[in-house]
Amino acid sequence: MIDSHVHADTRPYEDFELMATVFDCVITHAHDPLKMRSFDVALDYFDKILGNEIAKARKNGLNMKACIGIHPRAIPPKIDYDVLKEYLKKENVVGVGEIGLEKCSKEEIEVFENQITIAREMDLPAVVHTPRTNKEAVTKNIVEVLESMDLPIDFKKKIVIEHVTKETVPIIWENDYKLGITVQPQKLTPNDAVEILGEYCEKRFLLNSDSSSAPSDILGVPKTVLKLKMAGFDEKVIRAVSHNNAADLFKIN
Ligand SMILES: [Zn+2]
Repeated sequence: MIDSHVHADTRPYEDFELMATVFDCVITHAHDPLKMRSFDVALDYFDKILGNEIAKARKNGLNMKACIGIHPRAIPPKIDYDVLKEYLKKENVVGVGEIGLEKCSKEEIEVFENQITIAREMDLPAVVHTPRTNKEAVTKNIVEVLESMDLPIDFKKKIVIEHVTKETVPIIWENDYKLGITVQPQKLTPNDAVEILGEYCEKRFLLNSDSSSAPSDILGVPKTVLKLKMAGFDEKVIRAVSHNNAADLFKIN
Protein backbone atom coordinates (compact mmCIF):
# COMPACT_ATOMS: atom_id res chain seq x y z
CA MET A 1 0.00 0.00 0.00
CA ILE A 2 1.01 3.62 -0.58
CA ASP A 3 -0.29 6.60 1.40
CA SER A 4 0.04 9.28 -1.27
CA HIS A 5 -0.33 12.31 1.00
CA VAL A 6 0.98 12.77 4.54
CA HIS A 7 2.82 15.50 6.42
CA ALA A 8 5.48 13.44 8.17
CA ASP A 9 7.09 16.49 9.79
CA THR A 10 4.01 16.83 12.02
CA ARG A 11 3.95 13.20 13.17
CA PRO A 12 5.56 11.59 16.21
CA TYR A 13 8.48 9.20 15.85
CA GLU A 14 6.26 6.21 16.66
CA ASP A 15 4.10 6.82 13.60
CA PHE A 16 7.07 6.21 11.33
CA GLU A 17 7.41 2.69 12.68
CA LEU A 18 3.67 2.13 12.37
CA MET A 19 3.66 3.39 8.77
CA ALA A 20 6.60 1.10 7.97
CA THR A 21 4.61 -1.95 9.10
CA VAL A 22 1.77 -1.16 6.66
CA PHE A 23 3.04 0.86 3.68
CA ASP A 24 5.41 0.09 0.82
CA CYS A 25 5.88 3.85 0.55
CA VAL A 26 4.44 7.10 1.87
CA ILE A 27 4.71 10.49 0.19
CA THR A 28 5.19 13.47 2.46
CA HIS A 29 4.27 16.95 1.26
CA ALA A 30 5.53 20.41 2.13
CA HIS A 31 2.77 22.46 3.74
CA ASP A 32 2.31 25.41 6.11
CA PRO A 33 3.93 24.50 9.44
CA LEU A 34 4.87 28.14 10.13
CA LYS A 35 4.78 31.58 8.66
CA MET A 36 7.34 31.85 5.86
CA ARG A 37 8.75 35.25 6.74
CA SER A 38 11.29 34.92 3.95
CA PHE A 39 12.00 32.48 1.13
CA ASP A 40 14.98 31.22 3.16
CA VAL A 41 12.56 29.96 5.84
CA ALA A 42 10.82 27.91 3.14
CA LEU A 43 14.18 26.50 2.00
CA ASP A 44 15.14 25.60 5.59
CA TYR A 45 11.82 23.81 5.84
CA PHE A 46 12.42 21.87 2.60
CA ASP A 47 15.88 20.92 3.93
CA LYS A 48 14.25 19.59 7.09
CA ILE A 49 11.88 17.40 5.07
CA LEU A 50 14.60 16.08 2.76
CA GLY A 51 17.09 15.69 5.62
CA ASN A 52 15.67 14.86 9.05
CA GLU A 53 12.32 13.46 8.00
CA ILE A 54 13.61 11.14 5.26
CA ALA A 55 16.38 10.00 7.64
CA LYS A 56 13.82 9.30 10.39
CA ALA A 57 11.79 7.24 7.92
CA ARG A 58 14.84 5.29 6.86
CA LYS A 59 15.79 4.53 10.45
CA ASN A 60 12.38 2.94 10.90
CA GLY A 61 12.48 0.97 7.66
CA LEU A 62 9.95 3.23 5.98
CA ASN A 63 10.33 4.11 2.30
CA MET A 64 9.37 7.78 2.14
CA LYS A 65 9.44 10.19 -0.80
CA ALA A 66 8.65 13.90 -0.83
CA CYS A 67 6.81 16.56 -2.78
CA ILE A 68 8.22 20.06 -2.41
CA GLY A 69 6.32 23.28 -3.10
CA ILE A 70 4.86 26.49 -1.76
CA HIS A 71 1.53 25.92 0.01
CA PRO A 72 -1.08 28.68 -0.50
CA ARG A 73 -1.26 29.29 3.27
CA ALA A 74 2.52 29.78 3.53
CA ILE A 75 3.62 32.01 0.67
CA PRO A 76 6.94 33.73 1.42
CA PRO A 77 7.89 37.08 -0.11
CA LYS A 78 10.22 37.06 -3.14
CA ILE A 79 10.10 33.41 -4.21
CA ASP A 80 13.17 32.44 -6.24
CA TYR A 81 11.70 29.94 -8.68
CA ASP A 82 15.12 28.92 -10.00
CA VAL A 83 16.13 27.81 -6.51
CA LEU A 84 12.80 25.99 -6.14
CA LYS A 85 13.62 24.12 -9.37
CA GLU A 86 16.98 23.05 -7.91
CA TYR A 87 15.15 21.61 -4.90
CA LEU A 88 12.82 19.71 -7.19
CA LYS A 89 15.85 17.93 -8.68
CA LYS A 90 17.04 16.65 -5.30
CA GLU A 91 17.10 13.00 -4.29
CA ASN A 92 13.76 11.58 -3.03
CA VAL A 93 11.69 14.42 -4.54
CA VAL A 94 8.91 12.95 -6.67
CA GLY A 95 6.64 15.94 -7.32
CA VAL A 96 5.56 19.53 -6.75
CA GLY A 97 3.33 19.87 -3.71
CA GLU A 98 1.39 20.72 -1.83
CA ILE A 99 0.38 23.69 -3.95
CA GLY A 100 -3.05 25.11 -4.76
CA LEU A 101 -5.49 27.76 -3.64
CA GLU A 102 -6.96 28.59 -0.24
CA LYS A 103 -8.68 31.95 -0.58
CA CYS A 104 -8.03 32.57 -4.30
CA SER A 105 -6.16 35.83 -3.82
CA LYS A 106 -4.23 37.25 -6.77
CA GLU A 107 -0.96 36.30 -5.11
CA GLU A 108 -2.10 32.71 -4.50
CA ILE A 109 -3.17 32.33 -8.13
CA GLU A 110 0.15 33.67 -9.40
CA VAL A 111 2.22 31.37 -7.17
CA PHE A 112 0.01 28.41 -8.11
CA GLU A 113 0.33 29.08 -11.86
CA ASN A 114 4.10 29.51 -11.61
CA GLN A 115 4.49 26.19 -9.83
CA ILE A 116 2.23 24.39 -12.30
CA THR A 117 4.38 25.81 -15.11
CA ILE A 118 7.53 24.50 -13.38
CA ALA A 119 5.95 21.05 -12.87
CA ARG A 120 5.08 20.97 -16.56
CA GLU A 121 8.58 22.05 -17.63
CA MET A 122 10.19 19.45 -15.36
CA ASP A 123 7.58 16.80 -16.20
CA LEU A 124 6.77 16.23 -12.52
CA PRO A 125 3.41 15.40 -10.92
CA ALA A 126 1.72 18.32 -9.13
CA VAL A 127 -0.38 17.84 -6.00
CA VAL A 128 -3.08 20.47 -5.53
CA HIS A 129 -4.67 21.33 -2.19
CA THR A 130 -8.35 22.27 -1.91
CA PRO A 131 -9.46 24.00 1.31
CA ARG A 132 -12.04 22.95 3.90
CA THR A 133 -13.82 26.29 3.63
CA ASN A 134 -15.62 27.11 0.36
CA LYS A 135 -14.38 23.83 -1.05
CA GLU A 136 -16.71 23.71 -4.05
CA ALA A 137 -16.12 27.30 -5.13
CA VAL A 138 -12.34 27.04 -4.73
CA THR A 139 -12.23 23.68 -6.53
CA LYS A 140 -14.06 25.37 -9.43
CA ASN A 141 -11.49 28.19 -9.35
CA ILE A 142 -8.63 25.71 -9.39
CA VAL A 143 -10.06 23.91 -12.41
CA GLU A 144 -10.63 27.28 -14.14
CA VAL A 145 -7.05 28.40 -13.51
CA LEU A 146 -5.69 25.07 -14.78
CA GLU A 147 -7.95 25.06 -17.83
CA SER A 148 -6.90 28.62 -18.68
CA MET A 149 -3.27 27.42 -18.88
CA ASP A 150 -3.89 25.26 -21.95
CA LEU A 151 -2.03 22.28 -20.53
CA PRO A 152 -1.42 19.17 -22.66
CA ILE A 153 -3.50 16.13 -21.68
CA ASP A 154 -0.44 14.07 -20.74
CA PHE A 155 0.50 16.65 -18.15
CA LYS A 156 -3.07 17.15 -16.90
CA LYS A 157 -3.03 13.46 -16.01
CA LYS A 158 -0.12 14.22 -13.67
CA ILE A 159 -2.08 16.75 -11.62
CA VAL A 160 -3.78 15.41 -8.49
CA ILE A 161 -6.60 17.53 -7.10
CA GLU A 162 -6.69 16.64 -3.43
CA HIS A 163 -9.25 16.15 -0.68
CA VAL A 164 -12.21 15.62 -3.02
CA THR A 165 -15.75 15.17 -1.74
CA LYS A 166 -18.90 13.73 -3.32
CA GLU A 167 -19.74 17.31 -4.27
CA THR A 168 -16.39 18.22 -5.88
CA VAL A 169 -15.73 15.01 -7.86
CA PRO A 170 -18.20 16.07 -10.62
CA ILE A 171 -16.43 19.47 -10.93
CA ILE A 172 -13.12 17.71 -11.66
CA TRP A 173 -14.36 14.64 -13.47
CA GLU A 174 -14.91 16.00 -16.98
CA ASN A 175 -11.26 17.06 -17.20
CA ASP A 176 -8.32 14.69 -17.08
CA TYR A 177 -6.95 15.38 -13.61
CA LYS A 178 -6.35 12.72 -10.98
CA LEU A 179 -8.33 12.87 -7.73
CA GLY A 180 -7.01 12.40 -4.21
CA ILE A 181 -9.43 10.81 -1.72
CA THR A 182 -8.41 11.83 1.78
CA VAL A 183 -9.70 9.61 4.57
CA GLN A 184 -9.32 11.71 7.67
CA PRO A 185 -11.53 12.70 10.61
CA GLN A 186 -13.38 15.90 9.58
CA LYS A 187 -12.87 15.04 5.89
CA LEU A 188 -14.06 11.64 4.60
CA THR A 189 -14.71 8.36 6.42
CA PRO A 190 -13.63 5.04 4.85
CA ASN A 191 -17.31 4.50 3.98
CA ASP A 192 -17.50 7.87 2.16
CA ALA A 193 -14.49 6.76 0.11
CA VAL A 194 -16.22 3.45 -0.69
CA GLU A 195 -19.27 5.38 -1.87
CA ILE A 196 -17.27 7.64 -4.22
CA LEU A 197 -15.32 4.68 -5.62
CA GLY A 198 -18.56 2.82 -6.20
CA GLU A 199 -19.75 5.56 -8.53
CA TYR A 200 -16.62 6.36 -10.52
CA CYS A 201 -13.95 4.41 -12.34
CA GLU A 202 -10.93 3.73 -10.13
CA LYS A 203 -8.23 4.64 -12.62
CA ARG A 204 -7.94 8.26 -11.55
CA PHE A 205 -8.13 8.01 -7.75
CA LEU A 206 -5.38 7.93 -5.13
CA LEU A 207 -6.12 7.13 -1.49
CA ASN A 208 -4.40 8.99 1.31
CA SER A 209 -4.72 10.06 4.95
CA ASP A 210 -3.31 13.63 4.87
CA SER A 211 -1.96 12.77 8.34
CA SER A 212 -0.90 16.06 9.89
CA SER A 213 -1.31 18.08 13.08
CA ALA A 214 -5.08 18.20 12.40
CA PRO A 215 -7.08 15.20 13.69
CA SER A 216 -5.73 12.31 11.62
CA ASP A 217 -5.77 8.55 11.22
CA ILE A 218 -2.42 7.20 10.12
CA LEU A 219 -4.25 3.96 9.17
CA GLY A 220 -6.86 5.74 7.02
CA VAL A 221 -5.73 3.98 3.84
CA PRO A 222 -5.63 0.38 5.19
CA LYS A 223 -8.98 0.92 6.94
CA THR A 224 -10.47 2.01 3.61
CA VAL A 225 -8.92 -0.99 1.85
CA LEU A 226 -10.63 -3.23 4.41
CA LYS A 227 -14.01 -1.53 3.80
CA LEU A 228 -13.53 -1.90 0.04
CA LYS A 229 -12.85 -5.62 0.48
CA MET A 230 -15.91 -6.00 2.71
CA ALA A 231 -18.02 -4.17 0.11
CA GLY A 232 -16.90 -6.71 -2.51
CA PHE A 233 -14.72 -4.47 -4.70
CA ASP A 234 -12.49 -6.24 -7.19
CA GLU A 235 -8.93 -6.83 -5.98
CA LYS A 236 -7.64 -4.95 -9.05
CA VAL A 237 -9.63 -1.84 -8.17
CA ILE A 238 -8.41 -1.92 -4.58
CA ARG A 239 -4.81 -2.36 -5.68
CA ALA A 240 -5.15 0.56 -8.14
CA VAL A 241 -6.42 3.11 -5.64
CA SER A 242 -4.25 2.00 -2.72
CA HIS A 243 -1.00 1.38 -4.60
CA ASN A 244 -0.65 1.23 -8.39
CA ASN A 245 -2.06 4.65 -9.35
CA ALA A 246 0.32 6.40 -6.94
CA ALA A 247 3.24 4.14 -7.86
CA ASP A 248 2.76 4.91 -11.59
CA LEU A 249 2.30 8.65 -11.08
CA PHE A 250 5.21 9.20 -8.70
CA LYS A 251 7.39 6.51 -10.31
CA ILE A 252 7.77 4.42 -7.17
CA ASN A 253 9.00 0.83 -7.59
ZN1 LIG B 1 -2.06 18.07 3.03
